[in-house]
Amino acid sequence: MSGFVPHARDAGLAAWACHAAFSRGRRIDEPPAPTRSAFQRDRDRIVHSTAFRRLVYKTQVFLNHEGDLFRTRLTHSLEVAQLGRSMAHSLGLNEDLVEAIALAHDLGHTPFGHAGQDALDACMAPHGGFEHNLQSLRVVDRLEQRYPAWDGLNLSFETREGILKRCPIELARRWEIEEPAGVGQRFVLGHSPSLEAQLTNLADEIAYNAHDVDDGFRSGLLTLGQLREVALFETHHQSALAEHPRLASLPPRRLVAEIVRRMLSAQVYDLIEASRAAIDLAAPQSADEARAQPRLVQFSPEMRQAGTEMKRFLFGSLYRHPQVTEKAQAARQVVADLFSIYRAKPAEWPAEATGVGEPSRRLADYIAGMTDRFAIREHQRLTGQRLFPE
Ligand code: MG
Repeated sequence: MSGFVPHARDAGLAAWACHAAFSRGRRIDEPPAPTRSAFQRDRDRIVHSTAFRRLVYKTQVFLNHEGDLFRTRLTHSLEVAQLGRSMAHSLGLNEDLVEAIALAHDLGHTPFGHAGQDALDACMAPHGGFEHNLQSLRVVDRLEQRYPAWDGLNLSFETREGILKRCPIELARRWEIEEPAGVGQRFVLGHSPSLEAQLTNLADEIAYNAHDVDDGFRSGLLTLGQLREVALFETHHQSALAEHPRLASLPPRRLVAEIVRRMLSAQVYDLIEASRAAIDLAAPQSADEARAQPRLVQFSPEMRQAGTEMKRFLFGSLYRHPQVTEKAQAARQVVADLFSIYRAKPAEWPAEATGVGEPSRRLADYIAGMTDRFAIREHQRLTGQRLFPE
């Protein structure tokens, strides 16, 4: 672990921020980079990784090949980084760390979004299951093979801590034996992650609620009338029209864009204000003192409720829309078929060259790393079936 190395990027950070100079270091010690802080270096390693490049061809909610206008995991990750950085700055938190966590947070996602994950989890049930958040850490810790002396990207503790949002307690205890005081520790102790990690988590929520409204409307799966039943949307629908009456006579896309912008701003300002009040009250004097507190980065109770209502609406009306569930069903079949065919015919996949661990885990790593279109093509090659017409 590296010791104290002052870094100019730490100037201006609050006492409760993660300072690069006080990083708990990397699993394998490395000399500091001459021009970059530890977290800038993490960000750069993530951007240059193979898993990051694949995010452009992975689905968020809509299937990647359905159109060029919708979010992919890559554009989603960039939006999370943008929102996270701007909020971090206002709270005196480390923007570089937030950016690194944001860009890495979805690296473990399978093709086809949550449908793909559920199918792979079911296939892996007898072998320890599959969870995308654990997989994101596995990608940066083990699966990227780019360095001569180690597997993975050898990221700083704080970036890895932020990537690992959830961890089953038995697994955390096992990790604590292998890597004492590591990323599993907080789950054992019941502590919070850093404020930067908490912030990125909520930036993720703000981003996907907003862009699912935008993509949902753009795709025609959600109507303006439906969206207006959600309080958060309707409040800003009214304020946008009151301030810009001409929006009523323009194509509705402009109105929705303005409403989404207002929803984003309202959540960002609410989060900054509520979090600043909670931080002032707790007055942590260091990042570790902040970790020992309940989560301090938060929305006001009213905004939390508004966000929950929005999520419930999106779940019922968009994620459960017949057109989405029909594709999700086909996606689950692709993943399940690939898993069973590869299991039966190891010659069909690069079993030796892929991943680390038991054959079933290596297979899960291989499938999880696929882009949507590669999975579709492989499925067609192996089954002769075309589940997603071009
Ligand atoms: Mg996300």
